[in-house]
Amino acid sequence: MRQRVAIIGGGITGLAAAHHLCEVAPQLDVVLLEATSRLGGVIQTTKKDGFLVESAADNFITTSPVAINLCQRLGLGDELIGTNPQGRGAMVVCKGKLEPIPAGFLVMAPSRIWPILTTRILSSVGKLRAGLEYFIPKRKQLDDESLKAFVCRRFGYEMFERLVQPLVGGIYTADPSRLSIAATMPRFPQMEQQHGSLLRAMMRQRREAGQAKPENSGGARYSQFMTLRGGMSTLTSALANSLPAGAIHRNSPVCAIVPEEQGRWSIRLAKGNQQWLDADAVIVASPANHAASMLASTDKSISETLGQIEYASCGVVSLAYRRDQIKHKLNTFGFVVPLAEHRLILSCSFSSLKYPDRAPDELVLMRVFIGGACQGGLLQLPREQLIQLAERELTELLDISQPPVFRDLTMQLQAMPQYHVGHCERVELVEKRLASHPTLALAGSALRGVGVPGCIESGEKAAERIANALAASNCEVCHS
Ligand SMILES: Cc1cc2nc3c(=O)[nH]c(=O)nc-3n(C[C@H](O)[C@H](O)[C@H](O)COP(=O)(O)OP(=O)(O)OC[C@H]3O[C@@H](n4cnc5c(N)ncnc54)[C@H](O)[C@@H]3O)c2cc1C
Repeated sequence: MRQRVAIIGGGITGLAAAHHLCEVAPQLDVVLLEATSRLGGVIQTTKKDGFLVESAADNFITTSPVAINLCQRLGLGDELIGTNPQGRGAMVVCKGKLEPIPAGFLVMAPSRIWPILTTRILSSVGKLRAGLEYFIPKRKQLDDESLKAFVCRRFGYEMFERLVQPLVGGIYTADPSRLSIAATMPRFPQMEQQHGSLLRAMMRQRREAGQAKPENSGGARYSQFMTLRGGMSTLTSALANSLPAGAIHRNSPVCAIVPEEQGRWSIRLAKGNQQWLDADAVIVASPANHAASMLASTDKSISETLGQIEYASCGVVSLAYRRDQIKHKLNTFGFVVPLAEHRLILSCSFSSLKYPDRAPDELVLMRVFIGGACQGGLLQLPREQLIQLAERELTELLDISQPPVFRDLTMQLQAMPQYHVGHCERVELVEKRLASHPTLALAGSALRGVGVPGCIESGEKAAERIANALAASNCEVCHS
């Protein structure tokens, strides 16, 4: 009898786990249980009226090679494309106007001095305070703190309010006064501890890089991002197509995972007739709150800890305009909005300027993000009003003379896990408890990385853990 592994959740994490399990342990029977009728989870590419619209992730960072490796193993190497070399950079709203984010300012800290000294985004006092970072002693306590506390302590409130909050808000749709610095940007507290100052660390890195070209884009290192020509669903579809026939079970929401003898599991499906499925091992790749309720009677500690991970929601409005009806130069990839500006959107990405083949010629496709942890109340508005609100903001900020020729809205409800202060301890606690359940693995965006590469990595690691646990238990049976 082939041993069976059940994977719960058909987002990128569950699909990557299933695919990798077939790679490393082809003798196992893989069953993927997805609650809805569609695979991909939050990732969804739609092609409509000549536009390629992404509902969630529209690209991934390549500093970790896992996503590129996976694409290559799936035969998608030729589909990978980088960002447009023109326009790499972002803007921030400052007193109602769009200003370029200083070159070399990467999410949290400046890596170049001159662009920060000359920017109009910070006042002279704000610049002076940011420069004092060089002399501020490192923190003595090594416990976690919020991203806001970290940045205000090192660079001052103004740099936090005007640059870091909107950039981080754009990435995590989060409240930086609750976001854990250790879980989201561990590199920066490490730099503080090693070099005493982030500016000192950055200057040293620049010196060591020698003649290497300094980072020119502001906001993010756009040269390190990639996507797939046909959109992110190309990856989730290729993963699904790589699985053996009959492995995927759509419309199969799981409501409980119950331990049986010898490390085996009974999986209860929440379908009308309450079906049960037996498995030798389980990988849970659903959002943490769902995993928490599935495991409520199996392991109270894991369930309660997962239940503490909060989620935020956002609305993604896609709008397209004729290029000649937009007065703004659109010479970057988009903009972010500080909460201090009291506007109703979080950020806007110029999708068709960032990547090719996203819109017909002469048209520009933009994605506007609304809501998040700090403005979630806006998502109570009717869909049509949310779209109108995004239109109003773009019309004003980009000086657009005519209404959009294309509109679309995706609601991403409870879709973004929030890594609040103490997140690393929560994840460690869950991982410690998992040691007593060798045939159970957890994976997904709620644990050690919200980005696509982090999700793939956690899915693949879960697959390896389960393959090893089953191989070890088979050895024990053979020897006894
Ligand atoms: C708006 C937005 C923009 C983003 N942009 C980027 C980006 O540009 N780059 C980047 O790297 N990342 C980005 N991300 C993050 C990234 O897309 C996600 O973290 C990642 O896709 C999550 O994948 P997942 O498989 O872990 O979870 P999900 O995609 O949430 O999939 C979980 C799956 O589990 C299923 N499920 C839930 N409960 C059950 C149950 N009881 N039984 C069975 N199945 C169940 C769900 O239906 C779902 O299909 C973005 C996310 C959002 C929301």
